[in-house]
Amino acid sequence: MARRCLIAFMAMASCLSVVVSGHGGLPEEVFALGVASKLRVDRNSTARASSDFGRIVAAAPEAVLHPAMPADIAELVRFSASSPSPFPVAPRGQGHSARGQSLAPGGVVVDMRALAAEGSGRRGGRVNVSVGGAAPYVDAGGEQLWANVLRATLKHGLSPRVWTDYLHITVAGTLSNAGIGGQAFRHGPQIANVLELDVITGMGEMVTCSRDKDPDLFFAVLGGLGQFGFITQARIGLELAPKRVRWVRLAYSDVVTFTRDQELLISKRSSEANFDYVEGQVQLNRTLTEGPKSTPFFSGSDIGRLAKLASKSVSGVIYFIEGAMYYNESTATSVDQKLGSVLEQLSFEQGFMFAKDVSYVQFLDRVREEERVLRSIGMWDVPHPWLNLFVPQSRIFEFDAGVLKGISAGANPVGVILMYPMNRNRWDDRMTSVASNEDVFYIVGLLRSAVAPGDVERLEKENEAVLAFCDNEGIRCKQYLPHYASHEGWQRHFGAKWSKVTKLKAKYDPHGILSPGQRIFSSPA
Ligand code: FAD
Repeated sequence: MARRCLIAFMAMASCLSVVVSGHGGLPEEVFALGVASKLRVDRNSTARASSDFGRIVAAAPEAVLHPAMPADIAELVRFSASSPSPFPVAPRGQGHSARGQSLAPGGVVVDMRALAAEGSGRRGGRVNVSVGGAAPYVDAGGEQLWANVLRATLKHGLSPRVWTDYLHITVAGTLSNAGIGGQAFRHGPQIANVLELDVITGMGEMVTCSRDKDPDLFFAVLGGLGQFGFITQARIGLELAPKRVRWVRLAYSDVVTFTRDQELLISKRSSEANFDYVEGQVQLNRTLTEGPKSTPFFSGSDIGRLAKLASKSVSGVIYFIEGAMYYNESTATSVDQKLGSVLEQLSFEQGFMFAKDVSYVQFLDRVREEERVLRSIGMWDVPHPWLNLFVPQSRIFEFDAGVLKGISAGANPVGVILMYPMNRNRWDDRMTSVASNEDVFYIVGLLRSAVAPGDVERLEKENEAVLAFCDNEGIRCKQYLPHYASHEGWQRHFGAKWSKVTKLKAKYDPHGILSPGQRIFSSPA
């Protein structure tokens, strides 16, 4: 069969595209493999796998594989790894990365969602809960959405411990990064809660690994940015699921009190009365005055009061602690007392406690509601030049002054700024993921949307200015969901882990075919 020609990339409207063309085509023998019938080369299929949620980078693969089972992926990877002209192969979950991490220019994108559709003959079939042993767990296909995992485990009254804010991303997609959220201060990131993984290495070998079995592969893959293997299944520990949640937001007008209270909350022992979830947000005054008039959490009058509070503060910035306290029938009578005792210890602005009482599912799936609102006004499918940084606790005030009240002060009103602390001792340094070196560090997520012409360029410049500011001031930030244009950038990112990362890459993906969209190692295409 003739070599497949390059599929031209269709530039998307309203998207600043760094177009990386595929080239070279695939070896023609690939179309004689057993999986050939599951390879799609039509323009629609390749175009759908050419960009991501970020809408900043775009590149067409030569083909898209729709695997019916993990062995299909292994066959393709084995073929590429043993070919005289290896080609890149990249897993794609929901494609919710922001910088082309799931793209495979000149190679094959594996649409992992096909496993959920076809894996066991019914959608979502690859989620199995085990309650028989010493501790319950769930075996979830890497392609499964966290929302499906939640649905399946709740049928048994159980739930994973740590959640990302958004549940419509895949298990493997978040485990390849870390998977952080408001429960991570207590339980660590999602990767710290994995018991076992099924992995297909860059040689096409199918391996089940854990802390005790092939531990170097297990630790490499967790936070491994897709560099060492495909995660086809993850075993995740479970706990009893609560039924309901008291969900609060507490407003602060100064960063010192805000961070002191956040740090108090994350330092509590698990036996003490506390929130089960602690996050935080930063609101610039413009966001309040020019942004939406109401949100799924705040009414119009709440926003009016908050805007007044912001206008009274010198910087025009206000901060929110977001806390959630779980409860069920047996603890319903004591939850208010427990909440009261926690609130008593905090110093938020008087009268600025906002509370909701929601089901556990409503709480965990809260961003879905925001997604619906944004979709309805055409603001979901827009470019997202996001920047996420782990900022050391010792420098958070300088970061706040230089970035939040400096570089970003005039920022685009569309989007969210997250800011909350985590405990370093909940991270396992054997994993590939990179955190800050300090005992407590903050995630600051500048999650902005580009909605007007010129926004992408402006926000990208702002991101560069933020990184330059941190460099100049010697604030040792680490990027989360990292993206670097240079080899040196990656080396600096991994720091002391770099030599281990290169050795593991040579061991598990010696031809450098996996996840080229991360741009860490040179890829064959
Ligand atoms: P994709 O974008 O499809 O893939 C990303 C990368 O993951 C790939 O390059 C590959 O390296 C790897 N990958 C994907 N599948 C596999 C696999 N099967 N095996 C090996 N590697 C694989 N992150 C958080 O931690 N916390 C949050 O609260 C959070 N909130 C978010 C909210 C929104 C609205 C969005 C869009 C993203 C959010 N993220 C959050 C980031 C998200 O976790 C990552 O972007 C994640 O990679 C998305 O998963 P995905 O399935 O879309 O992955």
